[in-house]
Amino acid sequence: MKESVRKLQPYVPEQPVAALKKAFGLSRLVRLSANENPYGTSSTVATAVKNWDFSESNRYPDADAMALRLAVAKQQGVDPAQLVFSVGLDEMIVMVSRTFLGAGDQVVVSAPTFSEYALHAEIADATLISVPTLADDHIDFEALAQAINPAVKMVWLCNPNNPTGTSESLAAIEAFIQQVPTETMVLIDEAYIDFAADAAALTAMQLPSKYENVVVMRTFSKAYGLANFRIGYAVFSKAYAPTMQAVRLPYNVNSVTQVAALAAVQDQGFVQATVAKNAAERQAWQDFFTQQGIKYDQSDANFIFFAYPAAEKLADYLLHQGYRLRTGLRPGWLRMTFGTAADGLALRKLIAAYLLDTTQA
Ligand SMILES: *Cc1c(COP(=O)(O)O)cnc(C)c1O
Repeated sequence: MKESVRKLQPYVPEQPVAALKKAFGLSRLVRLSANENPYGTSSTVATAVKNWDFSESNRYPDADAMALRLAVAKQQGVDPAQLVFSVGLDEMIVMVSRTFLGAGDQVVVSAPTFSEYALHAEIADATLISVPTLADDHIDFEALAQAINPAVKMVWLCNPNNPTGTSESLAAIEAFIQQVPTETMVLIDEAYIDFAADAAALTAMQLPSKYENVVVMRTFSKAYGLANFRIGYAVFSKAYAPTMQAVRLPYNVNSVTQVAALAAVQDQGFVQATVAKNAAERQAWQDFFTQQGIKYDQSDANFIFFAYPAAEKLADYLLHQGYRLRTGLRPGWLRMTFGTAADGLALRKLIAAYLLDTTQA
């Protein structure tokens, strides 16, 4: 076994809600720790999945995902040949890491960010260079550019970033790309871009057509409410797309998932409603934290990263009240996915009461 794999710290997945409910004796548990869609999934998807022809079960799926490919290409204004589909965006992180990294190579990230970039760099025997964010948790592009050297084969940009929720302008990203050698890949993870206040102005979707070394990634797990179906994709330049298709397992995305994702693309009403409800909750939470004097990062996503000195204690209290937040991403900080308006109201009341209790005690 490779040394790098022997010492791996595995990604800690979410525990099933049913198991948590049982463990904590709760009748209801709201999971606000995985950035899932609290409004469920489009009914168009449910219909499409139910109408899927089961007699196709013994056949391999369409390896090209052609119907979905054409729909996404049209939606995003890219060439269908630039698209590579994956089993969640997670699998795309695996694919690019094994394609572009070898032993001794380096990977640059802005920290904190999504932990899978580091995990798959490590599996590939590459070294991670973490560049701390600025005081307001935005990316320090100057320091990031300084970290680039000939051994750096990949730079990850998560926009908006998980766990901070902060977003960077397209101008700032493009200015950074222009400082990166053309042999170094710049991977832009846009898992949360649909939630941004101005997603159309923020997205780097057209950059792979302009810069060969730029890749833009999306997922259906968040705004599209398809986390359980496991599908994401990346847009590559025409120089790299054929190689990535060769690296990809031919039948990675099954037919039911292809059908679900196509239906989801075709129901933009569901996505727009999700984004609008999320934006209202985001505003309510930012107003609440401002009122309470709680420090938080400006969010452009479907979650918020906030500071509370006894973070683990607060999370534990809320878990016993039926709300699970994400701990362990930075000492004294918690990440909370925005839930429904009703859960938002209830949770803000709980936190306000908790703060009152603990300051009086
Ligand atoms: C959720 C998430 C992903 C992975 O999503 P999949 O469910 O695998 O499609 C990728 N990147 C970031 C930053 C995420 O938060």
